[in-house]
Amino acid sequence: MVPVPEYSFLILLPVLRQIYQTLGSKPAEQGGILGIADGVISRFYYDVEGLCSERDYYPDIKSISKVIKEWGNEGVSFCGIVHSHHPSARLLSSKDIDFGRAILRMNPSLNSVFFPLVFSVADNTEYEFIPYVIDEKSVSIASIRFSNQI
Ligand SMILES: [Zn+2]
Repeated sequence: MVPVPEYSFLILLPVLRQIYQTLGSKPAEQGGILGIADGVISRFYYDVEGLCSERDYYPDIKSISKVIKEWGNEGVSFCGIVHSHHPSARLLSSKDIDFGRAILRMNPSLNSVFFPLVFSVADNTEYEFIPYVIDEKSVSIASIRFSNQI
């Protein structure tokens, strides 16, 4: 029997397209944040100010906090971080997982944080989106569905 993923997310197709046009087309590591409203992931903010090195992505907390506040005024909640890795690093790093759990501790209303990993065509591979999700106990792969409308 195929195990049923514990987490499931519905994502707007334009969000996936935006991720492709940014993280999916530039060399790793790049990142951004995701927002959810009415159970649908409907926002993506590309963190142009984030610090990128060959091994890590460090979000720009100042600009991200501003975006999360703006989203809040529109009824959109922060729900995750998406970033790109080199094709050889197919798993979240221990730093990624620690960061995800720190986010959970800072946001008691979240019981998990969506933490997808992207591979970019700029790194000579196919665009890929692995829907990781981090909670206090584990790192797993969520099931995802796509929608063209809200
Ligand atoms: Zn990473």
